[in-house]
Amino acid sequence: MHPATLFPTCLGLFSLLLGLSPGALAAEPETPDPYVVFLGTGAADIQRPETDPCDNCTYVRQHGGRNARRYSSLFVSPGVLIDYSVTGRNGLESAGIAPAAIDHLLITHSHGDHCDPAAIVALAREKNKPLSLTGNANTVARIEEHLKTLGADQRPALTLQTVKPGEEFALGPWRAKTLAANHIPTEDALLYVLRGQHKSLLYATDTGWFPVGTFAALGAERLDLAIVEGTFGEQTQPNLLVGQMNFPFVRLIRQFLVESKRLKPGGRFFVTHLSLHFCEPYDLLAPRLAAEDIVVAYDGLRADL
Ligand SMILES: [Zn+2]
Ligand SMILES: [Zn+2]
Repeated sequence: MHPATLFPTCLGLFSLLLGLSPGALAAEPETPDPYVVFLGTGAADIQRPETDPCDNCTYVRQHGGRNARRYSSLFVSPGVLIDYSVTGRNGLESAGIAPAAIDHLLITHSHGDHCDPAAIVALAREKNKPLSLTGNANTVARIEEHLKTLGADQRPALTLQTVKPGEEFALGPWRAKTLAANHIPTEDALLYVLRGQHKSLLYATDTGWFPVGTFAALGAERLDLAIVEGTFGEQTQPNLLVGQMNFPFVRLIRQFLVESKRLKPGGRFFVTHLSLHFCEPYDLLAPRLAAEDIVVAYDGLRADL
């Protein structure tokens, strides 16, 4: 008999002598401390400062740094990436995150600033190990259409899972929950809650004021981190607030989460998916919102859960 096949038996006998169950001898698998890295924090207009003469765009053009933003995307360690588009690879590289560190891709909705099928396929091929992608029906259809245009030898090991709002599923060491966003009439745009062993977070973009069912579904959560979109900053024109938030909405969402203790005492609240044209640039905005306990996310920001 091969020594390896003897081992469980020997271990069993040894444990019996010690009065231990075999499981008690096996070391608990170490789960690394979870953290997030914002790979991108911009809205769909990240190119606008290249040409727009307004004050905000001019400031971004002249100062760059944290004022510039890639398309919104969040890395959640271990193993999860939420949204991935054409600026995703650059975001990973700047943060020093290898494609091998990503096992599961969650997509919020099919808009190009959140989901780029060619970029996703390139990432999956670079990773060279199976990658799972979860998204709504429109997102999965977009990916499938793109895969059909590729030869068999170019298709990566990518497993696709279609979800609707209100579903829960395992994602490696995480439990993921989908919540309904309020973003577009033609698809089930999704928000995600990720629950780890002891920590959890909400990622809420793109969305306007939450649907009533989403507030209800959040009732079961005790969040360490809430990340909410604030696309239009202090703008209050109603035509802008169809499907996206502004800061007055963001403040109320934060107040709701804090007062209902859905955000744990000591939990942190971040705003992301910020329009470069409509929001003040980071340098001016971050100190102002910090006074209200709102952290303005920037590309490359890392936060422990
Ligand atoms: Zn967007
Ligand atoms: Zn969108």
